[in-house]
Amino acid sequence: MAFNKARFITSAPKLSDCPPESLPEICFAGRSNVGKSSIINKITNRKRLARTSNTPGKTQQMNYYEIDDSFYLVDLPGFGYAKVPKKERDRWGRDIQNYLLKRNTLHLVLHLVDSRHPPSKLDEEFFYWLGSNQKPFAILLTKADKISNNKLRSSLAAIRKILEEMNIDVPVIPCSAQSGKGIEEIRSLILEFTDQ
Ligand code: GDP
Repeated sequence: MAFNKARFITSAPKLSDCPPESLPEICFAGRSNVGKSSIINKITNRKRLARTSNTPGKTQQMNYYEIDDSFYLVDLPGFGYAKVPKKERDRWGRDIQNYLLKRNTLHLVLHLVDSRHPPSKLDEEFFYWLGSNQKPFAILLTKADKISNNKLRSSLAAIRKILEEMNIDVPVIPCSAQSGKGIEEIRSLILEFTDQ
């Protein structure tokens, strides 16, 4: 059964600390507090596989979780947290970019955006960067339970418009770690991209 087994493997500060390139991997990116840990826990049916917290910017390493002995989910450090000194933010940016460009076993990037707010300038730059570097990616619109269906529809339309202007055609999935909305769709995407 898919997503039956999940275990923490390691926390890697940079590319050279990542596990050997053996299994396909899917990474989760997005700004701090966007809901990465919560969505990983929901997808894997675990309460505390990934740590969730109200203190943004705490997860500063790439956390590896092995699923069903067959692929990795990788929680990337949240970016753009204002309270972290700029120098440190820049270093993370470089480390993450290095990982995204050079990790041969990376099959898909899931970029999370809070459905309540328009994508930030950093989010937009990241869409563009992923598109220009031909990285397969999808966008998860998180915390969808917190807004009305009408508001969700307009957030979805706003993101689609931005992507269209960049000539980027990728899935955009509204989801919620609370209600479970979108979780099956995310799981299917993960299985598709990890050749399961
Ligand atoms: P991370 O920093 O991106 O890993 O974000 P977390 O998963 O730690 O979530 C940040 C905060 O948002 C926590 O207080 C979560 O309980 C809350 N949160 C995350 N996902 C959801 C969601 O789908 N619905 C609601 N209502 N709250 C969420």
